[in-house]
Amino acid sequence: MNETAELGFNPDELREKYVQERDKRLRDDANEQYGHIEGDFSYLEKDPFVEEEIKRDPVKDETDVILIGGGFGGLCVGARLRMLGVKDIRIIDKAGDMGGTWYFNRYPGINCDIESHVYLPLLEEVGYVPEQKYATGHQIFEHCKAIARKFNLYDNALLQTEVTELCWSEGEQHWIIKTNRGDELRAKFVSLANGFLQKPKLPAIAGIDTFKGKMFHTCRWDYDYTGGDRTGGDVFREGPMNMEGLNDKRVGIIGTGATAVQAVPHLGNSAKELFVFQRTPSAVGVRNNSLTDPEWVKSLKPGWHQERMDNFLMLTAGGYAEEDMVDDGWTEITATLVDLIMSDPTGDMSPEAIELKAELADMVNMEKVRARVDEVVKDPETAELLKPYYRQFCKRPCFHDDYLQTFNLPNVKLVDTKGQGVDRITETGVVVNGKEYEIDCLILSTGFEVGTDYASRAGFDPVGKGGLALTDYWSDGAKTLHGMHMHNFPNFFMMGITQSGFTVNFMHMIDAEAKQIAYIVNKCLQDGINVLEVSKEAEQAWTKEVYERGERTVDFAMNCTPGYYNGEGKLSPTVRQDGFYFGDQPTDYTNILEEWRASDDLPGMIKS
Ligand code: NDP
Repeated sequence: MNETAELGFNPDELREKYVQERDKRLRDDANEQYGHIEGDFSYLEKDPFVEEEIKRDPVKDETDVILIGGGFGGLCVGARLRMLGVKDIRIIDKAGDMGGTWYFNRYPGINCDIESHVYLPLLEEVGYVPEQKYATGHQIFEHCKAIARKFNLYDNALLQTEVTELCWSEGEQHWIIKTNRGDELRAKFVSLANGFLQKPKLPAIAGIDTFKGKMFHTCRWDYDYTGGDRTGGDVFREGPMNMEGLNDKRVGIIGTGATAVQAVPHLGNSAKELFVFQRTPSAVGVRNNSLTDPEWVKSLKPGWHQERMDNFLMLTAGGYAEEDMVDDGWTEITATLVDLIMSDPTGDMSPEAIELKAELADMVNMEKVRARVDEVVKDPETAELLKPYYRQFCKRPCFHDDYLQTFNLPNVKLVDTKGQGVDRITETGVVVNGKEYEIDCLILSTGFEVGTDYASRAGFDPVGKGGLALTDYWSDGAKTLHGMHMHNFPNFFMMGITQSGFTVNFMHMIDAEAKQIAYIVNKCLQDGINVLEVSKEAEQAWTKEVYERGERTVDFAMNCTPGYYNGEGKLSPTVRQDGFYFGDQPTDYTNILEEWRASDDLPGMIKS
């Protein structure tokens, strides 16, 4: 077959180009290039959204269940516990309200990047159908609060409170939790849901400490300075926001990831001058947001939400489904692969042939992304710089209908760093390729800590039996059963993506984990089980399976351009063990949990 003629591109040339673009960006300091937000930079993490600071005396009491984190993780566990009749629950969160990432991220243009009808949890339980296909950040934040109200999760909650210590007391057979407000709380069960992308990271660029202008991180947007709609606005209904505080300002934004793609159109619309400092361009496909059709809402039958979530999971995690319910840029990625397989006259379905077709399908999709840049961006030089050359899942795929268009505005300049990042920051600006760009305001859209110590991200290190700290226990890689239970850490649950099912829709797995945790806690309370700990054998068996199934991801990640998905190009030796659980089918992980619960005997757990 003449692939080049049929496909419209030469796969070998493209493969080579991807390697060159990756190599250009590899750097020895990998994740070490980033610093921590602490000391003189602590102000970057201060909560700007607290309406009134809570003043209270320290609390000393006992609770059945403490949920650390009031984002979707904690809210889902809390709601699922309430549905089973568990009463004594407390949520602790450092923020001024529930919502987690959707509390803190209020940058202009914030939108759900997954269809909200599959991303938002507990829709049927709360009786809400998002009014847009891709909800605004504010609508999602409101849904978080609605869950908390519906399931009485504000009762007993400790907001504006940071956990500083979490220790298992063998004598008392309780967890003891200390906080920055002097609280000493005891809990029979603890569930950690304190977020995966929650600790903003500091790009340790030379001179960042010398900058004299205004500087903030996208996850603590300073609307007092910029002006504009503090909720993040509604780009679909209202178009780009005018942040009047920026009308006379020269603004720079470092980073062009999923956050910047959403924020840049609003900055372009507001700033006197906008400089977008780019190291690696994002792949930006068509968004095509729409209002939810009320007739469709009326037609929904009970169970629709889980069915839609499962359908999306199948079609975005390598499975097959007759119907594509969501039908958007995410599912199109798989549709291209299915088309290639169906149109192959050899019918070769060997793993090698499928992998080759998956690579070609990816190239087809990325060619469309690159062609779109040419269609939209008027200046050919700028267009060329905005084209991403890597496989689509090397970075979070983005979808937006105003981002690329912003580079046609006369006040907006793309400053490409040729894959190297900005050279340095001065008192008055940002230097790239030896040229200084003077600015009044610098916005860090540089993402969140990934792959750093747990204690660095969370602010505390859970200590289990015998004084064993989680960081030490996991020093040679994560060890869990189902991504949630650890030997030596009784009555303890960890929510997150480590050793959990693979998905692009994190909420899908978070709610699956929440159902599991709620079931276990309720069963222990009902059956009088005081202490529950996963056996070493069960933990080892799961960890081994995660490791064995993770082989292909390592090859994939190594060929990717650097980013937080692949340890900035330097994979940790434990990457296979620390990654997702890849089932034969995308639904395997949730099926395993369901079967585990169906046995009603807590297999693999030591009970006393
Ligand atoms: P990312 O980590 O994805 O992006 C950080 C950006 O900063 C990258 O473009 C990176 O470049 C750039 N950068 C870092 N250091 C430098 C430097 N020294 N010089 C120049 N550029 C630099 O963070 P985001 O906040 O954009 O997104 C994080 C995650 O949040 C997403 O992947 C997504 O999962 C989630 N998100 C979810 C949304 C939703 O609706 N559900 C919406 C928005 C975000 P490089 O690529 O070269 O490393």
